Amino acid sequence: MSQEISKEALELHRQLITIDGHCDTLLGIQRGYLDFINGFTPPEDPRYKGVVSHIDLPRMKAGGATTQVFACFVEKQYLPSDATNQALRLFDYFYQQVEGSDDFVFVKSAADIRAVKKAGKTSGFLSIEGVESLEGDTAILRNFYKLGLRQAGLTWNWRNQAADGLGEARTGGGLTEFGVELVKEANRLGVILDVAHLAPAGIRDVFAFSEQPILDSHCGAKGVTDHERNLDDEQLDALAKNGGVACITFVPPFINGAVKEYNDRDTASIEDVFKHIDYVAKRIGVDHVGIGSDFDGFDGYLRGIEDISRIPNLTAGLLKRGYKPDEVTKIMGGNYLRVIEQVCG
Ligand SMILES: [Zn+2]
Repeated sequence: MSQEISKEALELHRQLITIDGHCDTLLGIQRGYLDFINGFTPPEDPRYKGVVSHIDLPRMKAGGATTQVFACFVEKQYLPSDATNQALRLFDYFYQQVEGSDDFVFVKSAADIRAVKKAGKTSGFLSIEGVESLEGDTAILRNFYKLGLRQAGLTWNWRNQAADGLGEARTGGGLTEFGVELVKEANRLGVILDVAHLAPAGIRDVFAFSEQPILDSHCGAKGVTDHERNLDDEQLDALAKNGGVACITFVPPFINGAVKEYNDRDTASIEDVFKHIDYVAKRIGVDHVGIGSDFDGFDGYLRGIEDISRIPNLTAGLLKRGYKPDEVTKIMGGNYLRVIEQVCG
């Protein structure tokens, strides 16, 4: 497909800053099958037969990627007593990649990201997905901030000390008292709040209590695909009022209603991503749309955007759909950068 990209699109892509709001790449590094710096090669270990890989440094460079947000997701086997340690281990895997390559830079602010772009390098921004690792204590958030954390997803699908994830939505619970304290402390410190996976009552509460713009780091629009992980029109409207950004994901079942399984690789494509971008842009404006692939968090390869090296296809496709260059620049990372600048500096 890349041979179809126009010179104009390639030139625009070369100039703009890209920010992808979510990936699970650190888990592949920890499991030992992903050499991030030198590039993924299919592992011989039979446990990882057929494993999918979407992101590594060579492919980030090939795709002209500026900034990737690396999520630290604490899997169930570490809960509850090893959650903080597991987050720290994932931070360490992230630092090892930064220390292992001059071309991969740890960024914590909008100024850092602009400098990386100017230097022609690529970079990582650190987030946690679910706050189990904070153990209900903002002191740990303050320490994580010192370690470079700048984005926090309140929940995965489970219930935790701050709020209920989507898997607990039946009870209608919003933020706990700790959750409210956490929102306020994140605002004060300069940690971006992320409502991906949060149950609807919690999302409402975050909008009520947060004085800073928030993100949904990987989602779609319910108006296109009726999936529980997608934002409905009311939530999108609240997000626009908040000044936040909905980062459209590539997870096949979220963006294409015909797909029932994460690994159904034949049905979903980059065209589905565009449908969700169009919907959100039309509903709440182009200033509130971003990209949040969830690369390395789902099986299969989305047609047209099989891995991070293919993101020039997003720039080209948006231009083709009639978005102006400055609008494409906003969607590909400019809006996300605005939130980082406002919240983190
Ligand atoms: Zn997720």
